Order: sequence, then C-alpha cells, then structure tokens
Amino acid sequence: MALAYKTSCEKCNISLNTQSEACICSYECTFCETCATEMACICPNCHGELVKRPKRNMD
Ligand SMILES: [Zn+2]
Ligand SMILES: [Zn+2]
Repeated sequence: MALAYKTSCEKCNISLNTQSEACICSYECTFCETCATEMACICPNCHGELVKRPKRNMD
C-alpha cells in the first residue's frame, strides 16, 4: 500500500513537502508536527493515533 503524500496540514493548511516533518493517522489524515503536538497526537477526524510520516527518498 502506497502512502498518499498530502501536501498540506489539514488543520492549519501549512504546506508540507516530502521532507517536512509531518504526522499521519492510519487513515492518512495529515497534519504538521505542531498541530499534531497540540492535539496530543490524536487525529481529530478518526481519533486514531498520529505518527511521524516517514520521509520519502528523493532518488
Ligand atoms: Zn498544522
Ligand atoms: Zn485520521
């Protein structure tokens, strides 16, 4: 399963490139690290845990 790399935070709309620190839940809701921390790493959409998104290699 390929991760969908969303390009902005769903909360504050800051842009997130593939090398940005971002957090996703298991349903791929995507948030910046700041918002994820504010929300105690719980996704507000599905109440799943937000985890750091792995950085994509730019090969
Ligand atoms: Zn944000
Ligand atoms: Zn979610």
